[in-house]
Amino acid sequence: YIRVILISLLFSFTIMMNRRDFFTTTALGSAASILTPSLNFAFPAKVPQAKMKLSFKPFTLELKHAFGVAVNTRTTTPLVLTTIEYGKFKGYGEASMPPYLGETQESVMKFLSKVDLSKYENPLELDTILSAIDALEPGNTAAKASVDIALHDLAGKIMGQPLYNVWGLNKEKTPNTVFTIGIDTPDMVRKKVQEVDPQFKLLKIKLGRDNDREIIEAVRSVSDKPLVTDANQGWKDKERALETIHFLKEKGAVLIEQPMPKEMIDENAWITERSPIPVIADESIKRFGDLIKMKGMYHGVNLKLMKTTGLREAQKMITVARAFGMKVMIGCMTETSCAITAAAHLTPLVDWADLDGALLSKNDAFKGITFVDGKITLPNAPGIGAVPR
Ligand code: MG
Repeated sequence: YIRVILISLLFSFTIMMNRRDFFTTTALGSAASILTPSLNFAFPAKVPQAKMKLSFKPFTLELKHAFGVAVNTRTTTPLVLTTIEYGKFKGYGEASMPPYLGETQESVMKFLSKVDLSKYENPLELDTILSAIDALEPGNTAAKASVDIALHDLAGKIMGQPLYNVWGLNKEKTPNTVFTIGIDTPDMVRKKVQEVDPQFKLLKIKLGRDNDREIIEAVRSVSDKPLVTDANQGWKDKERALETIHFLKEKGAVLIEQPMPKEMIDENAWITERSPIPVIADESIKRFGDLIKMKGMYHGVNLKLMKTTGLREAQKMITVARAFGMKVMIGCMTETSCAITAAAHLTPLVDWADLDGALLSKNDAFKGITFVDGKITLPNAPGIGAVPR
């Protein structure tokens, strides 16, 4: 009898303990969610207090093929790799600066040297920290993205969760990535397409010089995959642009990106009104404010972390673009698998993904997402899940 009483006492004590633990955890959880409204997690009870420390170094990404778009051709992309340390945790980020966008390794490092993370107590207060960094100086979108990405990686690692879990997204819902074929001679285009055609479900074809039809015919001579097409502001006459878009549709194009220069707002809108396939803004929409200004001018938007200042603003832009009834694509610059994998965590929310940037490089500094038959496959590790090689 006494044994029964002892056992039941022990049992109720255990229940009380569990209930008390439960209340403690819940209280911590709601405190954390008040601090960081868009991140849906509880700050783990045993994170040692530490100071955040940002470090950065230049890195040159070498490309496998010379990469041609309407405005230029290049063989390398300058990057700056960032790390934010917090106790035993390390978050990784990066800035990528294709030369025509105006930022350089020097400008990024100059900006980053003004960022002082040591004054923030809670690394999960992304809203406070990233808003303050954004306010330091206008522009510098890639530099800002390099902090945003590293901070998200760090936050996920502290929580012990991959970003898709932090955001409540289903990792099975990632789309196929497109694989990009830069502007080249018809022979080289055929060769590049043959190299990658079996591995990808969609090809992205760069257009906008004077050989659009020749390039498309070259692609079609070796592949029947659907095509994502991108004129990169290369077309200057709206009537001819529309004619070309009709030709592209006949040849199996599913969308056209940035047909005319971003300054030609009315001409681009004229094309959007008449185009038989969705017209997607890329150069025209960098940040949140541009999305609002360009409402109704395009069917959709191509978001890139190096334009949006990172994941946080990209997420807000996806929400607003959807409210405007727009299609959403997530793209990239030539980047390592660090920034590419970061962007990939948002892809369960979008219609198309163009995240082949790391595959175009010879010296990817990270291991991250993989592609299974072209489908984006996210790593399960906490944070971004990209690991330095
Ligand atoms: Mg584009």
